[in-house]
Amino acid sequence: MGVFMRDSVVNTAGKVQYEVVRRPKRKRIAIRITDDAQVVVSAPKRTPAVVIERFVQSKTDWIDAKLALVRSLPQPLEAHTYADGDTFLLLGNIIGLRVQRVRGIEAHCTLEDQLLHVHVSPRAKEVTIKKSIHAWYAAYGEQLYRALVERWVLELALPFIPQVGMAPYRRRMGSCSKDGRLMFAVRSLTLPMRLIEYLALHEVAHLVHFDHGSSFKRFLHAHMEDWRQREREMARLRIRSSGL
Ligand SMILES: [Zn+2]
Repeated sequence: MGVFMRDSVVNTAGKVQYEVVRRPKRKRIAIRITDDAQVVVSAPKRTPAVVIERFVQSKTDWIDAKLALVRSLPQPLEAHTYADGDTFLLLGNIIGLRVQRVRGIEAHCTLEDQLLHVHVSPRAKEVTIKKSIHAWYAAYGEQLYRALVERWVLELALPFIPQVGMAPYRRRMGSCSKDGRLMFAVRSLTLPMRLIEYLALHEVAHLVHFDHGSSFKRFLHAHMEDWRQREREMARLRIRSSGL
């Protein structure tokens, strides 16, 4: 994030309440709706308030629609405690956490009966438990995505099997490098399976078409008829899956 200053909250004719953030480097006004349904307007340093006001007024339909969507989404899970009873999302399902403290043990995490079991030493801190859970997700994800990618590679008779890895991406869900390495966001594992399947196909499709052009889309359509719907579902869920 660059340098910016926050104005106080401004009220526009009692309809849309928004916060103005002045950004010296911005060239135009932009509106963003946050996960907790706040309207944030970024504006260049010297844009007069009346111009911002007019801009927001002209976008009220869009803002109302976005606010309705954000408010209709399921509430995010509470902040993690990394203690017994904490919950996580895995493939769209809620799983629990059980922490067992054992003297002299190396921290590790396993999944049994919809419970993440983390074993740590008696004095281990929260961060050790967190790291252990993230490592488990990364290993699980690598196996899952590798299986999905290999299935597509066989079906499409691609001449090679790409490398598959996990990354702690915060914004994107996946990537495909020029040399054909596929990476997936660890947090994508919170998504339901049908969206993970779509993500795997999406990145595999980039091995054939290295852009999002019409051939890429035709390719997706040929192999997953409802890909557009899955992509839309993902865009909607993504708002709420900023972490594990
Ligand atoms: Zn893509």
